[in-house]
Amino acid sequence: PDEERAAAIAAVTADSSTPTIFDKIISKELPSTVVYEDDKALAFRDINPQAPVHIVLIPKNRDGLTQLAKADERHKDILGHLLYVAKVVADQEELADGFRVVINDGPNGCQSVYHLHLHILGGRKLKWPPG
Ligand code: 5GP
Repeated sequence: PDEERAAAIAAVTADSSTPTIFDKIISKELPSTVVYEDDKALAFRDINPQAPVHIVLIPKNRDGLTQLAKADERHKDILGHLLYVAKVVADQEELADGFRVVINDGPNGCQSVYHLHLHILGGRKLKWPPG
């Protein structure tokens, strides 16, 4: 399908300097519904929600982290920070019954935006395993 092809092309061409749609969201050039922001992280509602609560959480400074597979030692702090912020956002969204944190990586993971991001999904009973 076209989507898979586009993801495969993006994976090959994505490098740390290629701007993505998330750069425009960080700069507020593109509007989004921000639910959490600090100096290192930004969380906003997904434009195409897959659950009643679907939030995208990103590092403001991509620093080469186009995808989790590109992580190295220097990214350990931001990766830990993002996981903790996911919990803070889940609290904020009152997801006391549970939630899911997802990172799609590369073509097989169906990643479409090559700026590392965590999906926070909740508000309904989610199915397992994912497709
Ligand atoms: P991926 O498929 O790369 O794991 O996730 C990218 C996510 O970003 C998708 O869930 C998609 O709906 C979301 N997304 C893409 N473009 C925009 C946008 O312009 N605004 C918002 N709020 N979400 C977006």
